[in-house]
Amino acid sequence: MKEPVDVAVVGAGVTGLSVAYNLARLGMPRISVFERGYLGVGSTGRSGGGIRAQFASPEIIILARESERAYEKLSAELGYNVMFRQGGYLFLAYDEDEVRQYKEMVRLQNSLGVKSQFLEPHEAKELVPDLNSDAILGATFHGRDGTAVHQGVLWGYARACARLGVEVLTFTEVRAVRSDGDGKFVLCTDRGNVVSRNIVVAAGAHSKPIAKMMGVDIPTTPLRREALATEPLKPFFDPMIVSLRGEWLFQTLRGEVVGGAVVEGERPTYELTSTFDFLIQTARSWTRIMPRLKHVNILRQWAGLYDDTPDAKPILGETPVKGFYLACGFSGYGFMLAPMVGKLLAEQIVDGRTSIDIRPFSLERFRTRRVERERSLI
Ligand SMILES: Cc1cc2nc3c(=O)[nH]c(=O)nc-3n(C[C@H](O)[C@H](O)[C@H](O)COP(=O)(O)OP(=O)(O)OC[C@H]3O[C@@H](n4cnc5c(N)ncnc54)[C@H](O)[C@@H]3O)c2cc1C
Repeated sequence: MKEPVDVAVVGAGVTGLSVAYNLARLGMPRISVFERGYLGVGSTGRSGGGIRAQFASPEIIILARESERAYEKLSAELGYNVMFRQGGYLFLAYDEDEVRQYKEMVRLQNSLGVKSQFLEPHEAKELVPDLNSDAILGATFHGRDGTAVHQGVLWGYARACARLGVEVLTFTEVRAVRSDGDGKFVLCTDRGNVVSRNIVVAAGAHSKPIAKMMGVDIPTTPLRREALATEPLKPFFDPMIVSLRGEWLFQTLRGEVVGGAVVEGERPTYELTSTFDFLIQTARSWTRIMPRLKHVNILRQWAGLYDDTPDAKPILGETPVKGFYLACGFSGYGFMLAPMVGKLLAEQIVDGRTSIDIRPFSLERFRTRRVERERSLI
């Protein structure tokens, strides 16, 4: 049996590491993070690294806005270059209904301090000259949005954790969690048992079975999302280009175009295989959006998991089991929220209160009220 700890974090993706780092910054003494694989094996290492404040629900806009601001300072804070580039996010509107939705979203975002704007097709083309503006009726743009490199963010947090005395145990799987009958928890791992005063479940799409071990039922569903990368090209566009139909593409620092399109009819699965349907769907979407991509070679393809909730909003904070916390259900945008989610969870555990109200993200909401789905999913 290892020495008892104050907080055990399950999962060393961007969320778990951010929680652990922020806890250590607030002075929490003994923190252990358990990761069953290597750093980046989960969704974080498979994500696009996109960061945006353009959302449709007020509580998400506020959380994402603050997280984007945190990303602006993250390299300096961690002493590690996370390569956050603010080329903006360009949301494409294909029909009148989407134009109406986007205008509504821009009004709400502006009222909450996010300076997004609606663009006519020719204005979008000025921003991205290779865009097929004949295919769209408008777009929205927010220049503070952008992308960071996920390995940079993970390693930045991991190194900062190590400096602050946090123990990050890779290749250590949490196989069972139980109460010790004295207000603490016992985590049974494949490398021995550990007693902890608190647990934070940050295991991405695998959070549900871990929560279940303590009798906490969470309404999350694993969904496969695929991505691909082309050969590197000379840089020719800056923003992340996305649509409400699930298309996304951006150009990395190396010049590859990375992204994908949603394949209709995907059923809940933990499978991480890559599909030919996805390849075809993405090729169709991208060449319509940007005909110049027609003759570009695709080099690699991969898949990861979204951890979807009924309202496509995260589940954050303490559960009815005292000392047992959740940071999961990110529904496809957990990378961008991680700096604030880590800070807020740490505040709740250390101080019992948070600088932003996280009650809208409580597990309780699914029991006590009718929830509304976030509309700006990609
Ligand atoms: C193709 C794709 C593109 C995406 N693009 C974006 C994007 O542009 N922007 C954005 O914000 N989000 C994006 N996302 C979503 C984003 O990747 C996730 O929301 C985010 O990475 C979640 O981070 P996490 O740390 O919560 O989970 P993860 O990164 O999945 O980390 C959880 C960790 O827990 C570990 N674990 C699980 N079970 C156990 C156990 N029993 N014991 C020990 N360890 C365990 C796993 O191995 C894993 O490393 C994308 C996702 C995909 C699949």
